[in-house]
Formats: sequence, structure tokens, C-alpha cells
Amino acid sequence: MKISRILVYCVDLPLKEGTYSFSGGRSIRSYDSTVVRIETDEGLVGYGEVCPLGPAYLPAYAAGVRTGIAELGPHLIGLDPTALGVLNRIMDRHLKGHAYVKSPIDMACWDILGKAAGLSVSTLLGGRQGEAIDCYRAISLDTPERMAESAAAYRAEGYRRFQLKVGSDVGTDIARIEAVTGNSKPGERVVADANGGWLAHEALRVVDAIRGIDIAVEQPCLSYEENLGVRRHTPHPFVLDESIDSPAVLIRALGDRAMDVVNIKISKYGGLTISRQMRDMCVAGGVAVTIEDSGGSDIVTAAITHLAHSTPEQFRFNCSDCNSYLGHGIADGAPRRVGGRIEAPDGPGLGVSPEPARLGDPVMKIE
Ligand code: MG
Repeated sequence: MKISRILVYCVDLPLKEGTYSFSGGRSIRSYDSTVVRIETDEGLVGYGEVCPLGPAYLPAYAAGVRTGIAELGPHLIGLDPTALGVLNRIMDRHLKGHAYVKSPIDMACWDILGKAAGLSVSTLLGGRQGEAIDCYRAISLDTPERMAESAAAYRAEGYRRFQLKVGSDVGTDIARIEAVTGNSKPGERVVADANGGWLAHEALRVVDAIRGIDIAVEQPCLSYEENLGVRRHTPHPFVLDESIDSPAVLIRALGDRAMDVVNIKISKYGGLTISRQMRDMCVAGGVAVTIEDSGGSDIVTAAITHLAHSTPEQFRFNCSDCNSYLGHGIADGAPRRVGGRIEAPDGPGLGVSPEPARLGDPVMKIE
């Protein structure tokens, strides 16, 4: 089988809440998502999606996705989409870095592999494990009172896991954590995610002040070394996200026991191929994982659920239902959150069929 054509679509996805805010004064109102359709000479078609969280979150931005695919796409015509290892090596040979550009291509080829084999992507990633997956809800940075109200509203929708955005001034962040966890119910899981917004002295003051609170601390500072320093001064479960940006860094971090949980964002690692490796390395090292992505709609959410559902249940710390943050879907068959839980689709491949009207006309054709 050979890749015969690549179509690229831009999809504008307004956020249901209006605005999503996090540390450093960063906020976004709408996702600028890119959907990739890969066609083959045998008639099988696969879909992938990538959606950076604006241009100032990770080293990724929406226009960069399209520019990168224009650069890389011509090198992929004629390749076998089911030979994922070969495909990834060829992508790396023609474009150094820029993992997020490669993510929707890799994802679409997993979709094709599954359709060719008649198997779901979760089967190909190791097989479905356990029950439905618990989703976390990110609580946008706001006043302590409004964040507590927001968490209560999402609790009423069925969520039992919450990720509070913090990472501004220390006193208000402590108040945010106290306000939200003051209403926590038994069995709930809460994470305070600073997205690298604190300096070490600020992070140390926060973790000391919340010592008695049952909460995990995520990515308090920007650099790996700063986070390692904070980690060694806190008894809280410790999550690393932005700092773990490659398999090489993960190997170092596992050796340092730098965290208890790693957030696996599919696009951060260039797709499902490397994300599965990262997941398996974490499981081998006794470290739990959050399966998520920086943003996106139904295709990203399907990929997340396939990777999460093929992860041993005890290692599933959290999972993101990206498409719940949006006003409407873009694909039939997409996983939809029920209460606070979600399941991977059953069908072959990713199990989703994008609606042509939601994608509009392609902005790029490579053949
Ligand atoms: Mg995070």
C-alpha cells in the first residue's frame, strides 16, 4: 500500500467556556486545529489531527503545522503508511524536530493500519484494558471563588478529577487550591498545574503551605532542574508535563525519580508511535501517565482514548476529553464523555469518520 495524496484542512473550534486561561497571562478563545486526510492507492483513507494550545504554550503553533506539512508532505508520497517505524524515520530525515507537525501524519497512518488490519488502534497499541477511562477537567485560571464554582459545576456533570490552573502569585494560588479542595469529595483526584509559571522560591512556598492537602503538583517551574529541586522538597505526588519533551529526557527523569506521573501529550512526541513508547517506558518504570494532547477535537480525542484504553488501569492517572471543551464535534463515531468517563471507539482504526461539512475545503493538497 502506498500514500497517494495528503489533504490538509483548517478547522476553527470555539471553546464552549469562551476563554481558557493559564499561567503567564496566556489565554485562548478558539482552537485552530489542523486535520490531515491521508489517501492510499488501495482506497483506504486515514485521518489525523493536531491542535497547538495557541502559539505560546509548547514550541508549536497552528500556522507552523501547515508550513511543516507543506515541507514534509512531498517526501511521504509513495511510502507505505502501515510501516510506522519506517515512516517516522523518513519524516525525521526530512524535517528535524517539529514533532507536532509529524503528529497528525503518524496518527492518520495508525488509522490506516487499523483499517487495513480490521483492528482498532487500541488493539494495535496493546489491547483494551480495564473499564471506561476517567477524564479530568481543567479549571481555567480565575479567582479562587470562581474556580471553586467551576469545579462544582463540572462535578455536577460527573467529573471526579480536576486540574486547577495556578502559577500566578503565591498567595492567590494557595487560596485557589484551598477553595477548590475545600469542597473535594472522597475518591476525587485534584492536580494543581502551574504550567511552569512559578520560580523555585515561589513553588517551595506553595508546596509548603498546602502540605496537608491531598493534591498532586504539576510542572511548577519551567526547567527540568528547577522542578527536580522542588520535587525533592515536597511529599505531594509530582507530575511533569512540559519538561518531558522527548524519550531521552524521560530516560533521565526515570533515573532521577523526578516525577510520579508523566503527561503524555500525543503531539508533543510526534504522534502515537513515540507516545506509545513513552507510555510503555513509564509503565516499565512504575510511573503513571496522563494521556492527553494540547488541544483538538474528535480525532485527537479518539487517539487519546485508544492510547489510554490500552494502558494498564493502575497506570492511568488521568485522561483528557479534548472534544468536551468544544461546542460541536467534527466526526461521526467519536468518543463522547458520559458523566466523567469516556471509552475508545470499537471500530477499525481510530473509529471516527469526519463530517465533510465540518472540515470545509482543503487548504492544501499534496500528491
Ligand atoms: Mg499540564
